[in-house]
Amino acid sequence: MAEATIIDGKAVAAKLCAEIGRRTVALSVEHGIVPGLATVRVGDDPASRVYVHNKVRQADEVGLRGVAQALPETTTEAELVARVRELNNDPEIHGILVQLPLPDHIDANAVMDAIDPAKDVDGFHAINAGRLMVGRPGFVPCTPVGCMMLIANALDDLTGANAVVVGRSNIVGKPMSQLLLARHCTVTVAHSRTRDLAEICRRADILVAAVGRPRMIEGGWIKPGAVVIDVGINRAAAEEEGKTRLVGDVDFNAARQVAGAITPVPGGVGPMTIACLLRNTLTAACRLNGVPVPKDTATA
Ligand code: NAP
Repeated sequence: MAEATIIDGKAVAAKLCAEIGRRTVALSVEHGIVPGLATVRVGDDPASRVYVHNKVRQADEVGLRGVAQALPETTTEAELVARVRELNNDPEIHGILVQLPLPDHIDANAVMDAIDPAKDVDGFHAINAGRLMVGRPGFVPCTPVGCMMLIANALDDLTGANAVVVGRSNIVGKPMSQLLLARHCTVTVAHSRTRDLAEICRRADILVAAVGRPRMIEGGWIKPGAVVIDVGINRAAAEEEGKTRLVGDVDFNAARQVAGAITPVPGGVGPMTIACLLRNTLTAACRLNGVPVPKDTATA
């Protein structure tokens, strides 16, 4: 059997960002609106600092206005909620992202609840989660949206496909399963208590791994010809002594011998997540100003 097609998330994301850039220019020329994305980070987690920096940099690159706010570790929940409310009321800000994880003394749910659902470009607010569940327009978490775009690029018709999502987090697994269901897949959601995980994965025409365990999904767990989407980002020891590298939740080298198409790590889902965040911010700016939201052509 031929090796799997490698799904080039970096290339798809670049195309999507180019389109967002063109649409942002049009919005500014025709309506005088520059979409604003505010990111709020609390504390000094080095990974969060890198994530936020990348989001703001890429927002600026496509012509959005990225605003980065960094608050000290000692910030109270009330202070953070007050900051979010200020951003809710700022007409130049259309998207608000509070970087997770937050310090232990802050209840993330209380902060998410404070974000105006119309500016909730991460799609984590319970109102947006509920809208996704009942199939009404809202904001959908960026990583699953990006995964759906990659799946749609690899498969013409998802109707009736057996889809298995490994992981049930609110930010990836659960919304992913809803999106697949909306596209008429037969969806199984697996998690840490699932029995016979290998057997369940072997039935998947579409397998999405969002676990956070390096190379957990083995080549022998993959159905021949399946589309495999690896969301995992894990640090693992590299061949060279003392070095580490990023790997996914899927054993890529083994899985590519069996799958029909597969995303690499890095360069698969990761770049799509930021592109979809920028897309959600542009959409928010359009909706908040009563401007019709154009349909994407870059990922069709
Ligand atoms: P999470 O909140 O920790 O959820 C992990 C899920 O995996 C949980 O539902 C857990 O089950 C399940 N799980 C853990 N061990 C398992 C096992 N042995 N067998 C089956 N299921 C198991 O993680 P997350 O936020 O969804 O992220 C998952 C991975 O994706 C991480 O590596 C993260 O870094 C990565 N990620 C990447 C992007 C991107 O842009 N590429 C974005 C977000 C996340 P229980 O619910 O039973 O505990």
